Amino acid sequence: MRVPLIAGNWKMHKTVGEAVDFINQLKPEVADVKNAEILICPTFTALYAVGQAIKDSKIEMGAQDVFWNTKGAYTGEISPLMLTDVGCTYVIIGHSETRGRFGVVEEGMTPALQAYFGGTDESVNKKLHAAIAAGLKPIVCVGETLAERNAGKADEIIQSQVKNGLAGITQEQAASMVIAYEPVWAIGTGETCDTPEAERVCGMIRKTMATLFGESAAQSMRVQYGGSVKPANAKELLSQPNIDGALVGGAALKVPDFAAIVKSA
Ligand code: PEP
Repeated sequence: MRVPLIAGNWKMHKTVGEAVDFINQLKPEVADVKNAEILICPTFTALYAVGQAIKDSKIEMGAQDVFWNTKGAYTGEISPLMLTDVGCTYVIIGHSETRGRFGVVEEGMTPALQAYFGGTDESVNKKLHAAIAAGLKPIVCVGETLAERNAGKADEIIQSQVKNGLAGITQEQAASMVIAYEPVWAIGTGETCDTPEAERVCGMIRKTMATLFGESAAQSMRVQYGGSVKPANAKELLSQPNIDGALVGGAALKVPDFAAIVKSA
């Protein structure tokens, strides 16, 4: 039985005060939730304060990215050890806003999705190994752009992101992985991948995991859907057999919306 993981990715939103207020309002809303794991991923600057605020609750905390070395001359980077030190249990790796798609600009893409931050499957893989070594649970994001989908290449792109991003991990590590299927064209745009297609792709990701790491690992690992999840569409998406949770951006910024999504799991 896979417990759905409902994760809020706050991106570059909320000051420390706003972040702590959110947690204090969310706590009573989700105190009775039993059938979902609840995760908030604040900005780096709010991690310590959120880590303190969640202490007497079932809310967990993750970071939005990580670097692969433990320490050194890496200006602006954050190490896995620094994340566990402030109370992170999860980390998002390879979000499309951090993956390199230089020069890819499509109608409807938010500026961040034009992605000038340079992530690749290779850097995703390095981050993944470093995160696992530090005891963090990784959420690896995969997904195709609209051009890739229109060219009929969505499945091929996603399969290669899974294969290359997860290269070198053990069957045991694969069994506790979380992969978030986030079609790039559905992130922050209000566009949702329709439910049968989201379920089909999440099932395809599980099959790819079975080929790479065996059926048992594929049945244990979780596949989230992400891309304009909101209270109105969460229940339908989360009731699909291969969708084990949601990675939520915009709707995770408001307590009532995020709480409603958690409760629909
Ligand atoms: C995301 O940030 O991963 C995301 C899916 O954003 P949104 O829910 O706003 O589309």
